Amino acid sequence: MLGAGMVGVSTAIAARQRGLSVVVIDRREPGSETSYGNAGIISSGSILPLNTPALWKNLPKYLSNTHPALRWNVPWAIANAGWVIRFLASATPSQTRPRAAALAGLIGTSLQLHRDWIVKAEAGHRMRETGWLKAWRGDGLAAAKAEQAALAEFGIRSEVLDRQGISALEPNIIPAYRVGLLHSQTASVDSPGAVVKAYATMLAGQGGAVRQSEIRRIVPEGDGWRVVLTGAEIRARHVVVALGPWSAELLRPLGYRVPLATERGYHQHFVPNPARKLLRPIHDADGSFLMTPMEQGIRVTSGVELTARDAPSNYAQLEAVVPMARSVIEFGEPVGERWRGARPTLPDSLPMIGQAPRHRGLWLAFGNQHIGFTTGPGTGAAIAAMISGEAPPFDTKAFSPSRYIA
Ligand SMILES: Cc1cc2nc3c(=O)[nH]c(=O)nc-3n(C[C@H](O)[C@H](O)[C@H](O)COP(=O)(O)OP(=O)(O)OC[C@H]3O[C@@H](n4cnc5c(N)ncnc54)[C@H](O)[C@@H]3O)c2cc1C
Repeated sequence: MLGAGMVGVSTAIAARQRGLSVVVIDRREPGSETSYGNAGIISSGSILPLNTPALWKNLPKYLSNTHPALRWNVPWAIANAGWVIRFLASATPSQTRPRAAALAGLIGTSLQLHRDWIVKAEAGHRMRETGWLKAWRGDGLAAAKAEQAALAEFGIRSEVLDRQGISALEPNIIPAYRVGLLHSQTASVDSPGAVVKAYATMLAGQGGAVRQSEIRRIVPEGDGWRVVLTGAEIRARHVVVALGPWSAELLRPLGYRVPLATERGYHQHFVPNPARKLLRPIHDADGSFLMTPMEQGIRVTSGVELTARDAPSNYAQLEAVVPMARSVIEFGEPVGERWRGARPTLPDSLPMIGQAPRHRGLWLAFGNQHIGFTTGPGTGAAIAAMISGEAPPFDTKAFSPSRYIA
C-alpha cells in the first residue's frame, strides 16, 4: 500500500480484513498530510462536487480572483488548460446526476465503515454525530431548498432552518445567519490526523505492517511488483497507489499521464472560548469557508486555490475569511502555524478506483478531492474487494481509471 493517508490506511484495513498480507509505506507517519489538515467532516451529503452547473453562474465572480471560494493562478491555468476545460466541461446538468449517484454509493459505504471502524479503533470519542450546518447570511432559502431536494433524491436527510432554528441548534454562535441547512446524517471528528493514526494502529493490531520510507519507483517484475524505497526494496503481488496529491508522479514512468490537479486549501486554529462552544462544523456559504471545533482549537479552513501543488503559499484567501469567522464565533488568538494542503482532483471530480489499464496488480486509489477523509473507507473496501476477485460494495463503473488513462 503506497500512502498512509485516509485512503491508503483504509485500503490496507479492508485488504487485511480479507486475509491479505499488507504493508503500508509512507515517508511520514500515518495521517500527516492532506488527511491531517482537512475539516474533519464525514459527510453524508457531498454528492455535488464543485463543477456542477452552479459553477457557471458563479464563474464571473470567480474570474475576478478575489472571491474566497476560488482563487486561481493564471499561468497555472494556461499551462493546465486541458484540465481546466475538462473540469468545466463536466459542469453540465447531464453529467451531474450520474456523478451524484456514483458518489452517493461511495459515501454510503464509507459512512457505514467509518462508524464501525472508529469504535473498533478506540477513537469513537473523537466522532460527533451532530451533523454539519451550511449557513447563509443573506436570503439563501432557495439555495438551501434546492440542495435539500438534490440530497433527498438519494435518500440523504437534511433540515432547512431559519434564524431561530439555527440559534436553537448552535446557541453559542453570534446570530449571523438567516438560513441554514443541517446535513443531519453527517458526522465529524475532532482530529482527522489522530483518526487516521488510530486506524493505522488498529491495522497493526490486525497484523498489517506500517513502514516509514520514501517511495522512489515501482517496477513491474514477473507477475508482481518491485517497490523501490530509499535504501530498500519490497516485492509484492499487488501495489495500490494511494498517494493522494502525489499519485500521478509515480505512474508517469509507466506511461500513464494522469490529469490530476490540486485544489489547495489552508487552515488555521484559534483558541476557543470555552463558554461559547461550537457544537458542529459550520460551512459559511457566503464566504465558502468552514469552522470546525477541533482538539487544537477552532479550525478555520479556506476555499479552493487552483495552482501547482508545491507553489509557494498564499494566505490571502485564509486571511480574508478569518474576520468573517469571528463574526460568527467568539475565539481568541491563533494557535500554531497556518497549514496548507492539496485536495487531489481529476477533471470530473470523481476518484480513480480500480486497476491500471495496462498493468495487472497495479491498483489506483486517489483523486478523492474534497471528500477523501469521508470516502477513504469506501475507496479501500472497493479496491480490496477487486483485488480479492469479489464484487465491490457499490457500483464503481464511474470511478474506472480507464476514463482518463489507457
Ligand atoms: C482544506 C481542506 C479541507 C478538507 N475537508 C475535508 C472534510 O471535511 N472531509 C473530507 O472528507 N475531506 C476533506 N478534505 C479532503 C481530504 O482531506 C482529502 O481528499 C484526503 O485527505 C485525501 O487522502 P489521501 O489518503 O488520498 O491523501 P493524503 O492524506 O495526502 O495521503 C497521501 C500520503 O502519501 C504520502 N506520500 C506521497 N508521496 C510519497 C512518496 N514518494 N513516498 C512516501 N510517501 C509518499 C504522503 O506523505 C501522504 O501521507 C479537505 C481537504 C482540504 C485541503
